[in-house]
Amino acid sequence: MMRSDPEEEYTLLEKIGTGSFGTVYKAIHNVSKEVVAIKQINLEDSEEDISEIQQEIALLSQCDSEFITKYYGSCVKGFKLWIVMEFLAGGSCLDLLKPGPFSEDHVAIVLRELLLGLEYLHAEGKIHRDIKAANVLLSGSGDVKLADFGVAAQLSQQKSKRNTFVGTPFWMAPEVIKQAGYDAKADIWSLGITAIELAKGEPPLAEYHPMRVLFLIPKAKPPSLEGDFSRAFKEFVELCLIKNPKDRPTARDLLKHRFIKMARRKVELQELVERYDVWKLAAHQRAASSLTRTFSTFNTNDDDMPWDFGTIRIPGLASAASTVRRAPDAQSTVRARPGRDIGSVINLANLKIDGEELELSESTLDTNNPGPGDMTIEDGFETIKAVPAAKKVINENTFEESPQAEAGRQLANDALLPVLKKLKSGEHSAEDLEALSVLEHGVSDLNDINPSLLLAFFTQALTQIKGNSDLMKQIETHGSTAATEAIGVLGNGRALDDESEALSSSSTVNTDSTDTTAVEADKPAAEPTPEVRSPASPVAEALYARWIEHLRSKWPIVA
Ligand code: ATP
Repeated sequence: MMRSDPEEEYTLLEKIGTGSFGTVYKAIHNVSKEVVAIKQINLEDSEEDISEIQQEIALLSQCDSEFITKYYGSCVKGFKLWIVMEFLAGGSCLDLLKPGPFSEDHVAIVLRELLLGLEYLHAEGKIHRDIKAANVLLSGSGDVKLADFGVAAQLSQQKSKRNTFVGTPFWMAPEVIKQAGYDAKADIWSLGITAIELAKGEPPLAEYHPMRVLFLIPKAKPPSLEGDFSRAFKEFVELCLIKNPKDRPTARDLLKHRFIKMARRKVELQELVERYDVWKLAAHQRAASSLTRTFSTFNTNDDDMPWDFGTIRIPGLASAASTVRRAPDAQSTVRARPGRDIGSVINLANLKIDGEELELSESTLDTNNPGPGDMTIEDGFETIKAVPAAKKVINENTFEESPQAEAGRQLANDALLPVLKKLKSGEHSAEDLEALSVLEHGVSDLNDINPSLLLAFFTQALTQIKGNSDLMKQIETHGSTAATEAIGVLGNGRALDDESEALSSSSTVNTDSTDTTAVEADKPAAEPTPEVRSPASPVAEALYARWIEHLRSKWPIVA
């Protein structure tokens, strides 16, 4: 811990970047002339008890691994906490991804170095809990170091005492979301997600709202690495993303994997740093010429000045200045808001997943400050739908229901909804599960709002099918196998005969009437509760709670 005035001890050079908690500067130690990085964190007030954070930094400064960013010390000056750490000239992997995804060879090297860092941490009984490209730093010579371990976490633990439990969903392991107890294997899952992030430019499900992701990760099949990559790389990712943490390999196991064994020398990572430097320069040049063009346009059109500031585009610079990623154009009703930061956080307190209340430990719940009130993510829709109250209003109008509406309701309740529920209980990719959920919610909403419209939809679809003999034949030939495939992969080994039969009778259209066979929906198979328990490392506990402040500013809907 530093005792003297940091402003006398260090000279701040340029600003390197800004994160959720503060600003990072390059600085120089006045006596030794050593270059360091200093993170300055704004404290809410001078009363804030940061002694624990400082103790944690002192503890971290004893962390001695070439794969972990070195912390030198900390001190408070005015309303700011200064954290002095090793300077890593290459920046974060998230910065380095800006010119484009990494090559497979580069990913392999980064992963090997990260595994070495994780092997060290896990042997020390620590869990990082925030492995992602943004928290992987590179030195100018290609050294890879894990960062943001502990410090920010402690800070947010302080801040989140009243905000309970938080996390970043996209990289979170299923067992972490379910809060059923977890251990170092959670880092291995996040490493697998980071591998995809490095190879593709963003983590899986980046286009979805974080609340949906909380639902999808525990329920869906694990994501996989798709595309033009080697079998070894795909297999490596598959191993990291084994859902049951007990079956997921350790960092030590993965260091022996052929994909890692084949990884080249880390000096080759300098290419990524050079690529980023070139990209930054080009981005600045593009920005400058774009501005020049815009101003020359202004000059020649004095009388008719287009006050459309949308024409002043600063490509590159905008993204260079921030780590905010833009989601692809929205298709689904639950796509992410454009411009959001996928590093955003979700408060898991008081959440329920699919009706099941999440187990929250004493330490994660502050009953004196229960937070924003009960939230149910169910499958996330209700929380993020734009106008969730609409159907309730309509339900309150208790006028007599038409026979068509009654028939529509019966169709939904006796056939469509149970079938959809049954289908959803199968093992699906997150994308398939999402599409099924959209369908289910559509049926459910129509059932509430206008069941006779639902009947009309279904009747017209049937008429259409009946009038198309080729389609009829297709359904008859393939319908039942499709149904068996869809739910025939349930992980609990139940006999599927009755289920597939029921499904086939509902998906093979009965041409005589609109009568479809009712399917009794089973409860989805209960996931086995992992027996692993988190070691009570203060760092580990703290890291899990690190993003709440960030969330508040970016996602008021869940804060
Ligand atoms: P968050 O706070 O949400 O995790 P972040 O990790 O990007 O976001 P910071 O840790 O504050 O935020 O870092 C901001 C930027 O400063 C990073 O993007 C990285 O480029 C740079 N940076 C952070 N630590 C160092 C360091 N030790 N050496 C060199 N650059 C650093």
